[in-house]
Amino acid sequence: MAPARKKKQMKACQSCHKVVEGEACMTCGSTNLSEDWAGYLIVVDPRHSGIAKQMNIDMPGRYALKVR
Ligand SMILES: [Zn+2]
Repeated sequence: MAPARKKKQMKACQSCHKVVEGEACMTCGSTNLSEDWAGYLIVVDPRHSGIAKQMNIDMPGRYALKVR
């Protein structure tokens, strides 16, 4: 059996979908974070990413596709 890796519970911002590890979103400052999210999206270059445009993402970073 592989040793279990302890993973920090990450949350996603309900306002801008950013995945954050702290208690508040660093992008928009919102504290409306949800642990119930799905779809991990890493945006490197938002200007050339169709999905980033669809989600109105203008900053590179890690995002959740769906936040409930
Ligand atoms: Zn946010």
